[in-house]
Amino acid sequence: MTTPTHPEPPAGRLAIFPGSFDPLTNGHVDIILRSTHLFERVVVAVLLNAEKQPLFTPDERVVIIGEVFREYPNIEIETFDGLLVEYARRRRASAIVRGIRAVSDFEYEFQMALMNRHLEPTLETVFMMPAEQYTYLSSRLIKEVFSLGGDVRGLVPSAVEKAMHEKKGVKSH
Ligand code: ADP
Repeated sequence: MTTPTHPEPPAGRLAIFPGSFDPLTNGHVDIILRSTHLFERVVVAVLLNAEKQPLFTPDERVVIIGEVFREYPNIEIETFDGLLVEYARRRRASAIVRGIRAVSDFEYEFQMALMNRHLEPTLETVFMMPAEQYTYLSSRLIKEVFSLGGDVRGLVPSAVEKAMHEKKGVKSH
């Protein structure tokens, strides 16, 4: 048997969904909600300092995502820094959740998952697929379309859309 021995599981399985979420899209929302069907608690973990020129600061992202999931006591949002496996250990997480949109996501995700397993053999990575209509969505594309004046309604939660307009308003003044 090569399956590692697991430590005592915490009361209620907790999953971490790490990412930049700059901004949160409906693709992320889809994965977060799906993961609540598998885990008692889900932590949306916003990686600090991931981008050089972010649209929203990590703290702003935490506030916006918190607003989107206000009615879900089983979904928590916070920032994290450093090694994901260390953070997962501190949170006593059972799994890392990642979304897979297309085959192009696979290679990088596969590498990351195996590296994380090397660092922490008891931590599983769970890959989930979003609903088909979100498979082409990315935060980068949303920012690009929005900055060129495109309509992002239906692609991001309304709280995100509102915050994007507010940010644009601030920037153009
Ligand atoms: P990262 O910078 O780590 O890629 P993101 O914020 O872009 O962080 O994404 C976090 C997670 O959400 C990743 O697992 C990514 O594959 C997934 N993801 C992003 N967009 C979508 C989408 N449209 N559908 C499903 N999963 C997605």
